[in-house]
Amino acid sequence: MLSDLSFEEMKDYVVEKGVPLFRGSQIFDAIYNGKELNEITNLPKSLLEQIMGDYPKYKIVKRYESKDGTKKYIIEFHDGEVVECVLMSYKYGNTICVSTQVGCRMGCKFCASGLNGLKRNLTAGEILGQVLLVNKDLGGTYKNRKITNIVLMGSGEPLDNYDNVIRFLRLVTDGKGINISDRNISLSTCGLVPEIYRLAEEGLNITLTISLHAPNDEIRQRTMPIANRYSIKEILAACRNYINKTKRRVAIEYTLIKGVNDSKVCAEELIGLLKGLLCHVNVIPLNYVKERGLAGSTRKESYQFVGLLERGGLSATVRRTMGEDIAGACGQLRNSYLGGEA
Ligand code: SAH
Repeated sequence: MLSDLSFEEMKDYVVEKGVPLFRGSQIFDAIYNGKELNEITNLPKSLLEQIMGDYPKYKIVKRYESKDGTKKYIIEFHDGEVVECVLMSYKYGNTICVSTQVGCRMGCKFCASGLNGLKRNLTAGEILGQVLLVNKDLGGTYKNRKITNIVLMGSGEPLDNYDNVIRFLRLVTDGKGINISDRNISLSTCGLVPEIYRLAEEGLNITLTISLHAPNDEIRQRTMPIANRYSIKEILAACRNYINKTKRRVAIEYTLIKGVNDSKVCAEELIGLLKGLLCHVNVIPLNYVKERGLAGSTRKESYQFVGLLERGGLSATVRRTMGEDIAGACGQLRNSYLGGEA
């Protein structure tokens, strides 16, 4: 698909098709401005027919808007598969949360994305497509973009779709494309240790976010199957290596689940674990997912938990939840659209 190609690769594509080079820029412009094929007015019909099979067919099929201004989009791909992405608007800019897979195979007990397992990986161009379509929806073009930040925190485990995600990161940070700074991109992972080491070698200075959610392996294993494969010790060693290589502070996600990981003892253990690590802890009360049967701690309990972490010397905040009323909050993303709900 043509949105998988960089500007330079697009040139090779048109040369192969026997078409003048400037046509490559025009096709690139159309894709990066989020246009559908039938919205392109500056290409001859014969060329449009020639590229039809390769031109992206993703589109926004539904939008929801939350009371707090957060928007959720359902994006459909050529094969009818859909993913959700969420746009959060802040004073300093617009952050898009993109999906990297249709479904997920990590099986975390509190998360809705993996309820039906993994359907398929998204290609680099399909991940990029989410950014381009939403940017267009906000009235932006790629040269005058409305999107400033990206988080890879939608459905899917980005490091389980490693090559496509890296290609996406190169495309989205490319100066010839939508040109988003790597400093404004965060990748969140449940902790695939070998891939964290690989990521440190890519020369991409993105923020690494670890979904930790527990102060020890025993508690972690209760909700996250991946904890049976990699220990917290191994994950933190991989983080230290990432910090050494990139000089970037890592983020630790800690979702508070009532009666599972929210006790004072857990806070103390977490302090011991993270002390000395260049990190910031984001505490989030678990968002309710009806099929999961786990309850979140209250906001008050979350502030108390953060208070303990801060007194223990950690940098920590309670993360604002946005878009809860449109099931756009962390962990709530799933294809409810298909079932006619939401
Ligand atoms: N697979 C990646 C990224 C997607 S999930 C990862 O695990 O990090 C994005 C974040 O939402 C993760 O921190 C995840 O643990 C968290 N999350 C999942 N379900 C949640 C829920 N019900 N409430 C709050 N956060 C949740």
